[in-house]
This record gives sequence, C-alpha cells and structure tokens, in this order.
Amino acid sequence: MNKSIKRSAIVIMGASGDLAQRKLIPAITKMYEQGVIEKNCCVLGNGRTELSNESFRELNNITENKFAGNFHYHQGLDGLYDKVQSLGQFEQIIVFMALPPRVYGSTAEQLYNQGFKENVRLIIEKPFGTDLKTARELNKKLKQFYTEKQIYRIDHYLAKESIQNILVFRFANNIFYPVWNNGFIESIQISAFEELGVESRGDYFDKAGIIRDMIQNHLFQLLALLTMEAPVSLDPEEIRIQKMAILKALEIKECKIKQYEGYQSEPKVDENSQTETYAEMKLGINSFRWTGVPIYIRTGKAVGEKMTSIAITLKKVPRLLFNKENDLKQNKILIQIQPDSSIIIDHSTKIPGSDMEITTTDMDFCFSSSFEGHNIPDAYQKLLQDALRGDQTLFVSAEETELSWEKIEPYLDMGEPGLYRKGRVPRSDLDADWVDMSAYAGSCQS
Ligand code: NDP
Repeated sequence: MNKSIKRSAIVIMGASGDLAQRKLIPAITKMYEQGVIEKNCCVLGNGRTELSNESFRELNNITENKFAGNFHYHQGLDGLYDKVQSLGQFEQIIVFMALPPRVYGSTAEQLYNQGFKENVRLIIEKPFGTDLKTARELNKKLKQFYTEKQIYRIDHYLAKESIQNILVFRFANNIFYPVWNNGFIESIQISAFEELGVESRGDYFDKAGIIRDMIQNHLFQLLALLTMEAPVSLDPEEIRIQKMAILKALEIKECKIKQYEGYQSEPKVDENSQTETYAEMKLGINSFRWTGVPIYIRTGKAVGEKMTSIAITLKKVPRLLFNKENDLKQNKILIQIQPDSSIIIDHSTKIPGSDMEITTTDMDFCFSSSFEGHNIPDAYQKLLQDALRGDQTLFVSAEETELSWEKIEPYLDMGEPGLYRKGRVPRSDLDADWVDMSAYAGSCQS
C-alpha cells in the first residue's frame, strides 16, 4: 500500500447519485486496482434510497470486481458513524458530499453530532454557494464543526494535469520567468467552450448560469495560477496566499452575456429564462506585474466545440529589422487544456532560400505524445488521492471562495442576454483580438 495513505474509510454521501456512479466509484475502483489504496481501506455509500450492499455494487457495476467486497452501503444518516466503526478501525475518515448543495451545511452538522469529528475530512463539491452571502453562510456553518484543514472544497479543474503543469512551466523554466509581466506580455486570453448545450442539467444550470458555473470558480482559479507570484514553497497555504493576492487585485472592467437560441425550450429550463449560457469579460490585475495587461475570458455552452485554452500574446519586438512593413507576427504562448493538453510557442523563422522572408512556426509539446503510456489519473482520482493524503493544494480555501464571489457578484443575473446561434462561437463584443485556437487544433497527435 502507498505508505502516505493511512487506513481510511471513504464515506460517499449521495452515493445513489450521478456523480458517485459516474466519477467517484470508478475513481475509487481504479485506486484499488492500481494499489493506491488497499484492502484495509473501505468505501461506505450513503443515501436515503434503500439499497443492500449487493444492490449498491450492482448499481455501480462492480460485482465482478475483486475489490467489490470493500464497498458497503448504509441507508439514512441514523447509525452511520456506528456503521463505519463496525467496518474496521480507521485512522481517518474521508466524507465526500455528493449531495444537493442546499444540504451541505445541515449534513455536516448531523455528521458531527453523530461522532464524525477528529480525523475526518469533508470533501465538498461545487457549487460552493450561489453568491457571496450563501458562500459566507456555508463557510460559517461548516466552520462551526470542522476546521479549515478538514474542509476540502473541490474545483476539479485544478486536478487536470495541464493546469497543474502551469506551475511547473512558469516556475521550473527560467526562460519564461523574465517575460511573465507587463513589460513583455501584451494580453492574455482564456477560452473555455462546451460543444453541447445544457442537456439533462437544465434545472441546475438555469439557476446558475455560466458565470457561476465556470468563471467564479474554474476560470478565476486558472487565471490565479497563471498570473500569481512564485510561492515561497509548494506548501498549499503558500500557494493559496499567492492566489489570494491575484483575486484581491482582480478588476472586472467589462462583462457581456448571451444565451443560445433555443435555450428556453431545453428540458427543465424556464420558458422566459434570462440565464446566460455565454459570458465574456475584460479584466485587469492591479499589480506591479500586471497593470496595463488586458485579460479576456470567454466561456459558453453550445458553441460547437469543446475546448479550453489560454493564449498569451507577447509585445512586438522593440525595433523592426525584418518585415519593415510591420507585419511581423508577435510571439504567442498557447496553453491548451482540453481536448489536447499541449503548449505551443509561436515564433518567427526565416523561410529557407528566401531573402530574409519570415514566417511563423511552432515549437510544441504534447502531453499525450511525450508521456505515452503514462498513467494519468482522472481528476476525481487525483482529488481523492490528495484528500486521502491530506494535501489541500488543489482545493480552494474559504477565503478564496468568498473573494471570488465578491468580485463576481455585480455581474450575476445581469438581465436579458443577447442571443447567439447554437453551434457557433458568438461574435465578441469586447475589444479583444481573439487568437483563433482552432488553427492549432490537432497539432497534438493524441
Ligand atoms: P444527484 O441528484 O444525481 O445525486 C445526489 C444524491 O443526493 C441523490 O442520489 C440523493 O440520494 C441524495 N439527495 C438528494 N436530495 C437529498 C436531500 N435533500 N438530502 C439528502 N440527500 C439527498 O446529484 P449529482 O450526483 O449529479 O451531484 C451531487 C453534487 O455534486 C451536487 O452538488 C452537484 O452540484 C455536484 N456536481 C456534480 C457533477 C456531476 O457530474 N454529476 C459535477 C460537478 C459537481 P438519495 O435519494 O438516495 O438520498
């Protein structure tokens, strides 16, 4: 067994739900199969639904798995703590709240009153609140019973390899450090697109909208990692301090919202809904490093492609020696998060045989081809492993959640959005010269 993971019970609250079935149980099954956790760890599913151990295993298609005997089920909250105790002696208990967000606080209280106290870690799913007030209330409630060190607020974006690699790219390579500032960088663009519309999640999404669903959490976190100062160490607290400094200095200058045509007819969506399915923002960071650098964020559903990427455009060279007509392309650093995980650096190159004619060429790195055969854990596996090890690096602090809500609050529920055609990226209403990332699609042969 991996020495750094103690003998643990993993309790899944809401174990009959979609997240548990699609993400959590498969991730835990993999952890058994890969020997990350062993027999002396056990899983206890919990829910109001009546299920036997056997039917719980059947529900999750694990009856044939050789570790199926480690998966148990307990109906209702009554007697849950005693049930855990009856399964063995555990050094720690991880409780995953795969529940409707409105019951996070009350469930935490009930768990505490039952005996889930010391050696307990609570993993809380998104959304963490729906605005600043509700996020504060939830933090306050949780902290009545559990310390910040026991609370693991998930942002599954942070568990993506290509996002964690941003820290390595920036702080383990001396060639990028000197240019990572307003002296050299002209603009930063972050795009996060979904090919599909709301599908079956209309009831959740219609109350949330894309700003709550994507920007307040995932894209602000991504931006913080991209722009923060180097932490003093990799201690989670040190990284959080630097991310907080960015969130404090963040200023939203403009925000435009749109809704795709036909959204109001989607299942479980209000027929007069004004919920935004696309949003774009122009931001600035008021710091010595970033003042003057426009940062653009855009994210949308049903835009015809699934893609998350960062495009960093560098300023022009100080003096033109070549292409004096001024059509020398500016360097770009392109970080693709999905579907490809890659980094591409655009730079100028002399066309062979020409008289100093210049073209743009790429230097690229692809995770899939450079690390072929590597076992890349899925986001939930990574997050569960980290929670089992007590590593909070990829989890978001109470202060970060509240500060993000504080910044985004004036842009929630902005009223009637403009319309865009389903299946297309909407025309931007910002002054951004968006980099065409589709030009780089497929550059990574996965
Ligand atoms: P589901 O509705 O599918 O499942 C939640 C489970 O919680 C249900 O199976 C239900 O089990 C239990 N539950 C429902 N209502 C209550 C209640 N009032 N009190 C106690 N238990 C209740 O939701 P998901 O699995 O999709 O999501 C769970 C959480 O994870 C949500 O907060 C969601 O926002 C978040 N999330 C989900 C993602 C996903 O891909 N599904 C992605 C990101 C976040 P029972 O009836 O047996 O009690």
